[in-house]
Amino acid sequence: MEINNTCLNCQKVHNENCDLDQQLICRNDPKVTRKFVGFHLPLRIVIFSMLIFVGKITGSWWFLVAYGVGFFLNFGLVETRYLCRHCPFYAQEGKFLNCPALYGTPKWWKYDPTPLTKVDKIL
Ligand code: SF4
Repeated sequence: MEINNTCLNCQKVHNENCDLDQQLICRNDPKVTRKFVGFHLPLRIVIFSMLIFVGKITGSWWFLVAYGVGFFLNFGLVETRYLCRHCPFYAQEGKFLNCPALYGTPKWWKYDPTPLTKVDKIL
């Protein structure tokens, strides 16, 4: 299987003449990371806080447990399977992702440079 290394090379030496420049986030840009974390961190804090509040009020902690388990299973395992393993960030060296969205997540799966399958898209 032939691997298109265009985006992988661009992560080392950015090609200013790339047709996808400004359309594709192919490098770890601190501005993008700050924007992503600035949106998602407060969102997750609010959701977890609300679920803790619900747990304290009702005495039922199932919502918090289910959300927490789902959160870590999805972002730590499942999403890397159906989405990330097709991404140029996944092809970088190392055992952990170095991308703006899932920085530090273990790379459990083998890199697959082919497009997403129908099942991947459905998931
Ligand atoms: S979260 Fe996954 S698909 Fe998105 S940039 Fe990171 S590695 Fe790529």
